Amino acid sequence: MDSRAQEVLAQVASIGGSDLRWKDGRAFSLAYYAGPEVQEVADRAFAMYGSTNGLNADAFPSLKKFQADVVSTVNRWVHGDEQSAGFMTSGGTESILLAVKAARERGRKEFGITQPNVVLPTSAHAAFEKACYYFGLESRRVPVLADWRADVDAMQQAIDENTVLVVGSAPQYPQGVVDPIVDIAAIARQRNINCHVDACMGGVTLTFLEQLGEPIPLWDFRVDGVTSISVDLHKYGYTAKGASVILHRDRKLRSYQTFMTDNWLGGLYGSSGVLGTKSGGPMAAAWAVMNYLGDEGYQQLTQSARTTTRQLADAIQTIDGLQLRAYPDSTLLSFGAQGFDVFAVADELAKHGWYVDKQGPPDSLHCTVNAVHHEVIEEFIVDLSRAVAKVRDAGSTGSAGAYGTIE
Ligand SMILES: *Cc1c(COP(=O)(O)O)cnc(C)c1O
Repeated sequence: MDSRAQEVLAQVASIGGSDLRWKDGRAFSLAYYAGPEVQEVADRAFAMYGSTNGLNADAFPSLKKFQADVVSTVNRWVHGDEQSAGFMTSGGTESILLAVKAARERGRKEFGITQPNVVLPTSAHAAFEKACYYFGLESRRVPVLADWRADVDAMQQAIDENTVLVVGSAPQYPQGVVDPIVDIAAIARQRNINCHVDACMGGVTLTFLEQLGEPIPLWDFRVDGVTSISVDLHKYGYTAKGASVILHRDRKLRSYQTFMTDNWLGGLYGSSGVLGTKSGGPMAAAWAVMNYLGDEGYQQLTQSARTTTRQLADAIQTIDGLQLRAYPDSTLLSFGAQGFDVFAVADELAKHGWYVDKQGPPDSLHCTVNAVHHEVIEEFIVDLSRAVAKVRDAGSTGSAGAYGTIE
């Protein structure tokens, strides 16, 4: 490498100096870390294929293989069969956009629905709002029950002849509980419409918790009526960012996702997802990490994240004034405060380098616990109790937060 290249790369490294210290376990959101070996496998595989283009996998048989193997592994995890089929996407949002688009398309083609709506719990991810906005569907949000799970009776009431999709999450992001997928899917089956299970967060974790012997209610293709499932690999798959999988129960359902045109001067153009040119980096990294870890590696990482989540949930229940919103079904949890401002607690934690999500309604803090937190959870719990005591004594108020930004 010449000295100019070295200089520029040193600059690139130093620009990240005030980023979240996610590899040190300080971030309870946005980033996931399974240690230096896994990270190196991901980074090196990514670097080898980062500038290849998944738009045309015939030109890059490598990417075709990475995608086929990754999709087939996730299909096995979620108990799909040889009928079920899917694609890799750039993330949970793209997987959800495509699930909604496929439902809209099926409604139009099979049932002549021109004013489609989606019935979903208020807990379902913001990406469904984005999908409805992009693709011209009505979002019918149905309040959740007191335990934060989907209210299936109310969802049933909200459905009409223009409903093309019902949604359940495994688990939902805000409180970390798994919706009653069996009951949600039953409504879909009864009406012959799509049912998407958003397992962006839980697809990996719930699979391996079940293998580890935890009682997990069914949420995947074993449930009759589930037509599509999204599983993010760039979260609990511990691979590089830009990797998710969308699976459909059969190829007919999948056909409503894809796009093909020859209505321009450039010839036949087909694409499976939202993107055109698409980096091969995330595909190679996902393939590499999944093969490096194997089911056994994921079992260990899942065990570690789950044990740490329980430790944190149990501690929160003993800190005076904090209210755990729900006992976590997997590895996400949220909590509020009684008698003081919970956002001020987050601001106090930030002074010690910790990053947690501020969310609502109701005003809550949210932690996504992953394998990296095993080493630091005791320190975090100490700092959390101190932050609570400080905020309570000072009566301080915190600043609002946002999950994403548009700057
Ligand atoms: C993260 C997440 C999404 C969105 O995925 P992105 O990868 O951020 O686009 C959707 N649903 C759930 C439950 C999630 O946790």
